[in-house]
Amino acid sequence: MSSGENHRVVALVGRPNVGKSTLFNRILGDRRAIVDEASGVTRDRHYAVAEWDGKTFTIIDTGGYVPKSSDILERAVREQATIAIKEADAIIFLVDARVGPTPLDDEIAEVLRKSEKKVFLIANKVDGPKGELEAAEFYAFGLGVPIPISALTGRKVGDFLDILVKDFQVDQATEEVEDRTKIAIVGRPNVGKSSLVNALLGKERSIVMEVPGTTRDALDSLLRHDGEEFILIDTAGLKKRSAIKESIEFFGAIRTLRSISRCNVAAVLIDATVGLEKQDLRIVGSVAERKRGIVLAVNKWDLVENGETTELEYERLMRRKLRIFDYAPIIFVSARTKRGIYRILESCKQVHTERQKRIETHNLNKIMLKEIKSSPPSSGSGREVKIKYVTQLKVAPVVFGFFVNDPKSIQQNYRRFLENKLRKHFGFAGVPITLLFRKK
Ligand code: GDP
Ligand code: GDP
Repeated sequence: MSSGENHRVVALVGRPNVGKSTLFNRILGDRRAIVDEASGVTRDRHYAVAEWDGKTFTIIDTGGYVPKSSDILERAVREQATIAIKEADAIIFLVDARVGPTPLDDEIAEVLRKSEKKVFLIANKVDGPKGELEAAEFYAFGLGVPIPISALTGRKVGDFLDILVKDFQVDQATEEVEDRTKIAIVGRPNVGKSSLVNALLGKERSIVMEVPGTTRDALDSLLRHDGEEFILIDTAGLKKRSAIKESIEFFGAIRTLRSISRCNVAAVLIDATVGLEKQDLRIVGSVAERKRGIVLAVNKWDLVENGETTELEYERLMRRKLRIFDYAPIIFVSARTKRGIYRILESCKQVHTERQKRIETHNLNKIMLKEIKSSPPSSGSGREVKIKYVTQLKVAPVVFGFFVNDPKSIQQNYRRFLENKLRKHFGFAGVPITLLFRKK
């Protein structure tokens, strides 16, 4: 079992203006800034990996998926609460203690009461001890004793997080080595995920079997190709639909995160007719954040290939937009004509192997110390920064340790330099690499 099976997804649910996004930002704290800066993705995303007490979990702000038009707002809030119950491991139900219970709160509470999921009833905007009395009013919801917090000032947020993560497991350092490549096929709505899965599973020569996943309706499929076995994660979840656009997006996002957590390589589909956009980068960022392998598959290539653009040109353009993720392999496929679809499996298999690769320490030092010597780190303070020793600490996920006299002085651009050199000499195509700097 990979560490992903223990990764929890927590959804923030509540009517507009109760403070969901304020709490979301508070829980992520500095982490949000670091992740967003590193990935070059703007800050307006609504899910991220949070950490508390050494435990990481994914947090989703359903408020980010609320429709603008007010006539379907209530329905969407209710629907998203329902989806959250089904898909998330725990629900944070946020209410506004200053306003008191409202009819929409009441409706959400009813949906949540019927669920068997863990629900935390949080009374927000209790900025001081005085407000705690008002918070008690929500006890009538039958969802336990409301926990009073202030998302704005941070009051009692830490106490709440202690309770939230109590039963979560500490992340396993390394996944168990797995022979079969576990692939998550992800991408924004309409890129062709279900078409691709159908194309892959439809062929007679592939033996298909449904493997039960972690949640009741997360069905995985076993697929055989060229003597290799592959698991396609959550093939059943791809078929779900809703009438409300925002709910589709929310459902898609939550499914995507869950699938990424359970895979070892994610095939991120890009719509060839649209090109790589912010939303795609966000998904790629989510995969990298969870340190899973990445393969980029440009789908619907049948609609482009007879035009002016060649694969080479298209790839060059895409790589420029990919920035720090430009280490991912890019392949061109068509779920419709089935062209290239098996290359997705082959490419994922290669990335899976790369992700388990271990570089021998002697060789690693010989090559990297030479690179470092010819291009040493500069320090702003004027003090000499010396990297003395490099070792690979882990596979799956791949982690390198650099031993330095002054770890804090290593700059972001020097990290990039080291990562690029590691990739140049040792490969790791499609594999997110973590660099740790330690004091020697
Ligand atoms: P969302 O629509 O549920 O995501 O709500 P927001 O996070 O956007 O918050 C709505 C408003 O409530 C904003 O003006 C916040 O500054 C305010 N707010 C959020 N949390 C608190 C809190 O703990 N105390 C107070 N006084 N205001 C808060
Ligand atoms: P999903 O939302 O990502 O699961 O996307 P679907 O598989 O439902 O596909 C969305 C639309 O794109 C459908 O109309 C498909 O027929 C179409 N489509 C999917 N893959 C291809 C492809 O490779 N070429 C073309 N021309 N259309 C495709």
